[in-house]
Amino acid sequence: MEGIALQEKASARTAACRFCGCALHHTFTDLGMSPLCESILSADQLNQMEAFYPLHVFVCEDCFLVQLQEYVSPEHIFTEYAYFSSYSDSWLAHAKAYTQLMVERFQLGPDSLAVELASNDGYLLQYFVEQGIPVLGVEPAVNVARQAIEKGIPTLVKFFGQELAAQMARDGVRADLILGNNVLAQVPDVCSFVAGMKTLLKPQGVITLEFPHLMRLMEGNQFDTIYHEHFSYFSFLTTMKIMARFGLAVFDVEELSTHGGSLRVYARHAEDTSHRVTERVQELAQREERAGFTRLETYFSFDEKVKDTKRKIMAFLIDAKRAGKSIAGYGAPGKGNTLLNYCAIRTDFLDYTVDRNPYKHGKFLPGTHIPIFPPERIRETRPDYVLILPWNLKNEIREQLSYIREWGGKLVVPIPEVEVLP
Ligand SMILES: [Zn+2]
Repeated sequence: MEGIALQEKASARTAACRFCGCALHHTFTDLGMSPLCESILSADQLNQMEAFYPLHVFVCEDCFLVQLQEYVSPEHIFTEYAYFSSYSDSWLAHAKAYTQLMVERFQLGPDSLAVELASNDGYLLQYFVEQGIPVLGVEPAVNVARQAIEKGIPTLVKFFGQELAAQMARDGVRADLILGNNVLAQVPDVCSFVAGMKTLLKPQGVITLEFPHLMRLMEGNQFDTIYHEHFSYFSFLTTMKIMARFGLAVFDVEELSTHGGSLRVYARHAEDTSHRVTERVQELAQREERAGFTRLETYFSFDEKVKDTKRKIMAFLIDAKRAGKSIAGYGAPGKGNTLLNYCAIRTDFLDYTVDRNPYKHGKFLPGTHIPIFPPERIRETRPDYVLILPWNLKNEIREQLSYIREWGGKLVVPIPEVEVLP
C-alpha cells in the first residue's frame, strides 16, 4: 500500500504543463475528489462502485496556464456525452447572433467553408446552413454527432488534432472559418489542437475560439466551472502565447457574458496581414498585466476564496433546513456536480433537481445521487427554495420559474455569493 501511495505522489510531483512542459508545483485550488460530472447514473447503478478523481488544479510557474492533469482520457469522457447544447434558449440565440456576425464581418458565402471543432448536435452550424454557407462539423461523441448528421449537418465523428487536420488538408479540406466554442478548455493536448487549426486554415482564413475567461472565473468565484472535462483555464495573455507558438496571431478579442464571462478570440496566420490587430487586443493584455496575471502570487489567492464560498453555501442550506424549509435544485449541469460534491450536498439538503433534457430524467447526479426529474416536478411539490445550479442562465430560469411565487417559493443562486433572488 505504502509503495502505491509513494508512487502516486511521485507522479503528482512530476506532472508537467501541457503547454510548455514545465513541472507543475503550485496549487491553484484543490476541490478534493469528484466523479466525472457528466456521468449521471441510472437507478441500477446506484449500488455500484463509483470512480472519483482529484479536482486538483495547478498553475504553471512559467506560462501561467491553469490546468488539471489528465486523470481521465477524453475518449472515456466524450465518446457518449450527455450534454446537448440545443436545450438552452439563450445559447441558441447566442449561436445565431454569432453566425450573422461572422457572415457579415468576413463576407462568408457559398464558396466558403466553416468548420466547427466540437460541433455538438449541429446547433450552431445549422445557422450557417440556413444562410447557404457550406459547413463541416467535427464531433467525437458518437450519439451527439449522430443527431447532427440526421439534421443534415456533415460531421466527422473524430477527435480533432494535428493528425486529423493533416488528413483533412490532404483530402482538400481547408477552412475560411474555424470555430471552437468551449472546446479549447476540453482538449488535453492543446498543442496538437492549435497546430491542427494552423494546418486546416486557408491563408486568409479566420479562427474564432470562445472559452471561459480565467480573469472572470477568479473575480466571480466560479470554482464550480472546474471539472474533469475542463483540462485548461486560460487568461488572454496565455492564450496569445499558445497561438503565437504555432504561427497564429490573435488580432481581435471580445469579452462576452456567456458562461459567467468568456472571451471570443480571433486569430489568423501570423504572416497574414489582411486583418489588422485591434486596440482591444492591447487593452485587454494590459489589463491582465495590471491585474497580476503574470505573477504567481495572484493565482494563490483563489483557493481561500473557494473555501469561504463553500462555508457560506453550507451555512445557508443548514439554516434553511433547520427552519423546516424544503429545497429543490434546478438544472443538472456539469458545474452543478462540482459544487454539490465539493460542498457535500446530497438529498439531505436538496430533495431533487430538475432538467429540461429528457435524456436525464429518471436518473441521478453522480456522487451525490440526487434524483433528476422533469421541470414540472417543481409545480407539483412546491419547494420553499429552488437552488439554480446553472447560475449563468439565471435570468432565463427566473422567467421560466416565475410561477413559484404563487406559493411564496424563492430562487437561490450559489455563485459568486449565496443570494436569494428578490
Ligand atoms: Zn506552462
